[in-house]
Order: sequence, then C-alpha cells, then structure tokens
Amino acid sequence: MLSAFDNAMTLVEGTAKLLKFSEKYPTHKIVERLRIPDKIIMFRSTLQKDDGRMAVYSSFRVQHSDVLGPYKGGTRFDERVDLDEVKALALWMTLKTALVNIPFGGAKGGISVDPKKLSETELERLVRKYTSRLVSDIGPSVDIPAPDMGTGAREMAWIYDEYRKHREVAKGVVTGKPVEIGGSLGRLAATGKGVVCTMLEAVRELGMEDYTVAVQGFGNVGSHAALDLWKRGVSIVAVGDVTGNIHNPEGLDIEELITYCKKKGGVKGFPGSTPLKNIISCQCDVLLPCAMENVIRGRNARHIKAKLVVEGANGPTTPNADSILEERGVTVVPDILANAGGVIVSYYEWVQNREGFYWEEADVEERLFKLLRKTYARVSDYANTNQVSLRTAAYSLALGKIAKAMVARGIQ
Ligand code: NAD
Repeated sequence: MLSAFDNAMTLVEGTAKLLKFSEKYPTHKIVERLRIPDKIIMFRSTLQKDDGRMAVYSSFRVQHSDVLGPYKGGTRFDERVDLDEVKALALWMTLKTALVNIPFGGAKGGISVDPKKLSETELERLVRKYTSRLVSDIGPSVDIPAPDMGTGAREMAWIYDEYRKHREVAKGVVTGKPVEIGGSLGRLAATGKGVVCTMLEAVRELGMEDYTVAVQGFGNVGSHAALDLWKRGVSIVAVGDVTGNIHNPEGLDIEELITYCKKKGGVKGFPGSTPLKNIISCQCDVLLPCAMENVIRGRNARHIKAKLVVEGANGPTTPNADSILEERGVTVVPDILANAGGVIVSYYEWVQNREGFYWEEADVEERLFKLLRKTYARVSDYANTNQVSLRTAAYSLALGKIAKAMVARGIQ
C-alpha cells in the first residue's frame, strides 16, 4: 500500500538535501517540523440516518503548518479517506500556499464516507456534526476549510451556518461558499481554469501545436478544465471517472458530456464514445489527472504516451513514477502549481469577505491568471537555471520560503 504522506515527505526530504538545509539551518529541524503536523484532530461522527439506524464515520482535520498564516485547506468526503491521506493533503497545502505567495498555512479535513450513499438531509446533519466538533479549532483567522473531493458550495454553506450558530457570523470561516452568502464569483471553476492556465504555459514552452488531451476525473476540477479547453477548440479525446473511461479520437463534446453526467451520474455509456480500458496510458499528447492520488505509478508510467502531464489532482504521481517520467522526457506540471487556482480564489474570497466589498468575475480571473502565470514563470526559470524538473523547482521555491519563515519565527 502506497502512503501518500510518505511519498510527499520523500520529495520534501530530497529537496531539503538539494537546498542544503542541514548546513544552512543546522539547528532548526525544518524537515522534522514538516513531518509532524502542528495538530491532528481525529474523531468519530455518529449520524442518525433517515430510517433511524445509526452510522459511524472516522473524521479528521489536520492542521499541518501555520508558519505563513492561518491554516487553509479543503474538506474531502470519500470512503478512502484516512489519516495518512489527510496528512499528505495538508502538507501539500502548506507547500502550495507558500509557492503561490498567499498568506496561509496548510490544512485538510475529511470524513471517511461515501456521500453518494446519503440523502441530502443525512449529509446536512453529518456536515453540521463535523463542524460543531471543530468550532473551537476553525475560524476566519485560525483555520479556513474549503471544498475538496465529494464536497462543494452546499456543504460549505452548512459549515458557515453551523459555525454561526456556535460562534459568530463570520463569512470568512469557510471558502467556496455559494455566491449568495459571500462566495466569490469564479471560485467554482477556478481550479479547473487554473489547470488550463498552467497547461497552456507549458504547451507554449514545449512548442506543442494541435495536441489532444485526456482527462481523468470529471468532477469539479476535471469538468471545468475540460470545458475550458473544449471552448478553446482543443480536442478532448478521452475522459474517465469512477463509472469508467470513454474515448473518441475525433474529440468528445464536453458540454453534452456534462449534461449527460448530470442525468446518468457518470461518463460511462456517453453516446458516440467507446469504452477505454486505461486512460492513463491512452493515446493523447497531454494528460490531466484530475481525480486522486497515486494513479500514475511505476507500472504504468512507462506506458504513458502523453508528452505533458498536468496534475489537476493532488499527488497523482508517485515518486517512482515521477523519476520514470523525467527519464523519459515527459514534462510534469506539479500539483502544487497546476491546481493552485482553487486556493488562490479561496484567498480572494476570504479577502472580499473581510472587506465586505465584492469583485466582478473578470477581476477575479484576471488576478488569478496573472498570479498563476507569474508563479509558472518563477518555477520554470528556477528549473532551467538549476537543471531540475518543474516539481523540484516548485518544491525548492516553496520550501525555501517556509524555511526562512520558520527561522524568522523562532522556536514555535
Ligand atoms: P470531485 O469529487 O468533484 O470529483 C472527483 C472526480 O474523480 C469524479 O469524477 C470521480 O468520479 C473521479 N474519481 C474518483 N476516484 C476515481 C478513480 N479511482 N478513477 C477515476 N476517477 C475517479 O473532486 P474535485 O474537487 O474535482 O477534486 C479532484 C482532485 O483535485 C482531488 O485530488 C482534489 O484534492 C484536487 N483539488 C481540488 C480542488 C477543488 O477546488 N475542488 C482544488 C485543488 C485540488
């Protein structure tokens, strides 16, 4: 079983060696302070189902590091959620917020539950239970949750409302809310559009023309990325989700596919497509893994046909697969850069909530793309100057900043 947290720490340790942390900061234990999160909150959520039966779920919030600001990170509802995964996701948030220079630390939360198996009223009760258990640990200047796999604006509205009941009206306690209650315009599609923005930077650098794209995961991130590309006239030849993978070498109609998924609950059986066994190694020029961790591994990395992989999901590539892709000359835009659009617009939402002044969608997008392009350029320059991969460059820039902040703050 691959540990997502061990994989993430392998990269942190390797980069810390390259940056010579033990010589530069001999007494500060930078790596050790990243290995052990600031705080782990783990508890049982008991839910009374609509039919009166009880269900019990493991629930988590990991506050990884607040060295650069309040804890920030999503909330995942998925049966596979466990402490190791939440720790890894929280560590990636610490690195991501550092890389894109926004004043937050890293956190993540989740419940080991399949939300599709619950009614809407059951889900609301569960979210409220989860929030009431966390009210002393979250807050607009302490820890700010957001959506992740299996949650969205609806769940964020419940978190906001439950926090209001126990504490105060504080719009900035959670981001990714519905626009009607203080959510930011542009937040819903921000991660997917951000994936496309960084992908287009890489495509330009690689001089790719007339390329085809495959997208794994057709939820918030994957569907918005695919739709943005499709509207730009890019051919999406394969899409996959939990129901299966579909293929059309002539390109899929993404708008119709979104409508189809709303009715059928997944991509399987989409008219005009054929089923596809393996999406990771399918024939395409660009691969967007937008589902979950560890899908690109040693055993399939050698068969990937794409020249460019842009990580919409967090941690989709294992360190072993990463080395294979690097050896094979496949360019990888790493998760902490490629999917940072979500937390960037979450930051803009939090700023708008604090100011009580709301921006136009065009302003949100302009600021988002400007920051992502600037960050991509910093990462790419670092990679070229130091002859390292984009991932090592992104980790180096993020860890360099985190280390300086840790030293400045002394013994926390
Ligand atoms: P989501 O729940 O909206 O969608 C997840 C999609 O992945 C669904 O289409 C699901 O069917 C598919 N999927 C799940 N397991 C799969 C599997 N084993 N094989 C193939 N497909 C599978 O989730 P999301 O918000 O789109 O998040 C997807 C990824 O992006 C996660 O890694 C998440 O951490 C990351 N991410 C999300 C955001 C955000 O703003 N939502 C921000 C940054 C990163």
